[in-house]
Amino acid sequence: MTAHIIDGKAFAATLRTRLAAEVAAMAARGITPGLAVVLVGEDPASQVYVRSKGRMTREIGMASFEHRLPATTSQAELLALIARLNEDAAVNGILVQLPLPQGLDEAAVINAIRPDKDVDGFHILNVGRLATGQSAMVPCTPLGCLMLLRDHLGSLAGRRAVVLGRSNIVGKPMAQLLLRDSATVTIAHSRTRDLPDLCRQADILVAAVGRPHFVQGDWIRPGATVIDVGINRTDDGLVGDVDFDAVMAVAGAITPVPGGVGPMTIACLLANTLTATARANGLPDPEGLTP
Ligand code: NDP
Repeated sequence: MTAHIIDGKAFAATLRTRLAAEVAAMAARGITPGLAVVLVGEDPASQVYVRSKGRMTREIGMASFEHRLPATTSQAELLALIARLNEDAAVNGILVQLPLPQGLDEAAVINAIRPDKDVDGFHILNVGRLATGQSAMVPCTPLGCLMLLRDHLGSLAGRRAVVLGRSNIVGKPMAQLLLRDSATVTIAHSRTRDLPDLCRQADILVAAVGRPHFVQGDWIRPGATVIDVGINRTDDGLVGDVDFDAVMAVAGAITPVPGGVGPMTIACLLANTLTATARANGLPDPEGLTP
């Protein structure tokens, strides 16, 4: 058996085409969605991410505002910029690229963003809204995974899901989204016992661990759907958290790395910016972009 490869790159391209059409429809009403990205410091990976976010924002017709600040920026200076962006009517979404340089308080910075402009979905109010089933801004990576899962499987109700990883940006919100779709969800982490046995029970396995090729072929239930969130830079290039070749032989479907979840993250950032713009202008949420 060979697993179906879930083509996140193609799915994300289709999604961006649809978003571009929605942006054009908004432009006809005199509305231009705007996304502000704030980068503090010189982290090379962050610089790459910020560049491609800016490019893709412009490509679909949105306004992109980039703010690059030196690593020496103080907490007060960063908060002052966020306060300005909160008030700026041309800015519908604000993203502060993480990680921040040492000395800056990440939680305080994120919670200073207006929740309705928090397109990363990390503000404490959005976390609470997601957990209680209220209308929220949803973190982009888990939202992208959910879209791929729904597209491939249809209803997730009653399916057994194991989320490997409990970070605030991937694992926890992913579990919330699966629960919201009525999957039966287990969150695993570094203290979980008998991890291979637990994973073998999963109809859906989402791996967000940050360890190259961590998930083995014999951890997989035959026919399971495997979503590999991992991005690990190794001597062999970019690899996921899943031993792709071994898991391919057992799983029903799998996302590749690269070309799986990664492209969905930026597409969902743009989707969240569109949703935030619609809400700011009293329009209904665009269909299928929110859980
Ligand atoms: P974190 O480091 O914040 O979290 C990793 C999680 O994995 C933790 O909960 C940790 O457990 C768990 N873990 C670590 N080692 C083990 C182990 N041996 N057994 C079981 N669980 C373990 O990572 P992130 O959630 O931020 O990211 C995870 C991966 O996803 C990374 O590769 C990252 O690069 C990638 N990523 C990809 C994105 C994309 O766009 N595709 C976006 C964001 C992240 P514990 O809590 O107990 O320490």
